[in-house]
Amino acid sequence: MASVVLQHVTKRYGNVEAVHDVNLDIRDQEFLVFLGPSGCGKTTTLRMVAGLEELSGGDIFIGDENVSQKPPKDRDIAMVFQNYALYPHMTVYENMAFGLKLRKTPKSEIDRRVKEAAEILGLGQLLSRKPKELSGGQRQRVALGRAIVREPKAFLMDEPLSNLDAKLRTQTRVELKNLHRRLGATIIYVTHDQTEAMTMGTRIVVMRDGVVQQVDTPDGIYNNP
Ligand code: ADP
Ligand code: ADP
Repeated sequence: MASVVLQHVTKRYGNVEAVHDVNLDIRDQEFLVFLGPSGCGKTTTLRMVAGLEELSGGDIFIGDENVSQKPPKDRDIAMVFQNYALYPHMTVYENMAFGLKLRKTPKSEIDRRVKEAAEILGLGQLLSRKPKELSGGQRQRVALGRAIVREPKAFLMDEPLSNLDAKLRTQTRVELKNLHRRLGATIIYVTHDQTEAMTMGTRIVVMRDGVVQQVDTPDGIYNNP
């Protein structure tokens, strides 16, 4: 995994400054949460880290490398969305293996990574199932599995729990936190849900109107809201 650094990151859409001069040093293995109301610039910031949105100003580093000009596929990061589209005709195994196959990863290596991720996610017994034979939570885990097998430098997650019902959301929160520990992963996570931010984040970035207002641990935010 790797650190992710944002220096003077700015995004303008016409006259609107969606993100203004964001400076952040996201450490290796950190679970960093962007928290703020709808429209404050969280998703735009995440998309710039992913390379899905050009910067209007500033630079982004992943590890020691300036990736500001690099296309998404050369950034070595994995994005997990709320609308986890699995391939319906493929099994769980094939869904997880597909991206690696496209990258021409050797079969034995694919097999090792898929089985390891499945083990971590508790999907070991479900590898031959099709998505329609899974629960919502299991499908969510397959989507995570697809990201994990790529062994990325960082995971980017945009409201990944928002489609789940309350009970499953609580459960998945705990699972994600455990997963973070177990993988030693760098995770950048976007949410408007304060409880999600406080229970999962190692640090929280509070955004409003495109500006970072506060960066602190959950304890720090709790004591100094
Ligand atoms: P959040 O993720 O916090 O809800 P966004 O990053 O999606 O916020 O949006 C930040 C601001 O940028 C909003 O005012 C939004 O309307 C604007 N915005 C986002 N994407 C575009 C776009 N493609 N074109 C114009 N304005 C955009
Ligand atoms: P291909 O998609 O190239 O035809 P296969 O589907 O035959 O490849 O699978 C290749 C390897 O992937 C198998 O040897 C096996 O180790 C593993 N594999 C595929 N499906 C499963 C599954 N449901 N459970 C466990 N391992 C699987």
